[in-house]
Amino acid sequence: MIQDTRPAPFFVADDSALDFLNSIASPWGTQIEWIGDGYDLLVWLEQADLVSAAVLKSFRKATGREELDAVAAQARKLREWFRTFLREHAGQSLQPSALSQLSAINRVLAQDNSYRQIEVGNVFNEDRDGEHSALRWRQDRHWRALSPEALLLPMAEAMGDLICRQDFAEVKICENPNCTLWFYDVSKNHTRRWCSMAVCGNRAKAAAHRARKRSETG
Ligand SMILES: [Zn+2]
Repeated sequence: MIQDTRPAPFFVADDSALDFLNSIASPWGTQIEWIGDGYDLLVWLEQADLVSAAVLKSFRKATGREELDAVAAQARKLREWFRTFLREHAGQSLQPSALSQLSAINRVLAQDNSYRQIEVGNVFNEDRDGEHSALRWRQDRHWRALSPEALLLPMAEAMGDLICRQDFAEVKICENPNCTLWFYDVSKNHTRRWCSMAVCGNRAKAAAHRARKRSETG
């Protein structure tokens, strides 16, 4: 087995659809692809907590490598299509006219066979003025009845959540011009600027510090 020298993928976006976009990135100059083939896709889906390990294991067992690679290629295509959509729409609230561009997501979602179950969970209840509910809905799908292409469903669903439930005005890309990481700004004053302090924030701070030093001595 070839050792995977890639660092762990980024989950810094505060949104699953944007974490999916960030599954290819160049945080340290060189581009890293975390969904390079079918097995990569299974690993990423588990790390992203989008599909359970048991479901992924059964897909891995029941599906040929080539078929899984083909699904990974579709995932990359969906990802890059979504990136183009975001480049056009991020930073402002979405308008109804955007729907004409969303048929790719709706096509993926149309194959779903999801169902809901009731389970225990002390959750915030929006329908009852924020009271807590002892029981909650859990969404699942009949995975066994689905083809491997269904592995695209969690991503399409995450994109749909971002489109229908969140404000595109808060969809942002890291301010470091060399960084391609996206995030959803959940900060109180909507002032988040970096994918993460560790990757770009500290680097920008250090650069600003150096510039200040230079102007002081010069
Ligand atoms: Zn960054």
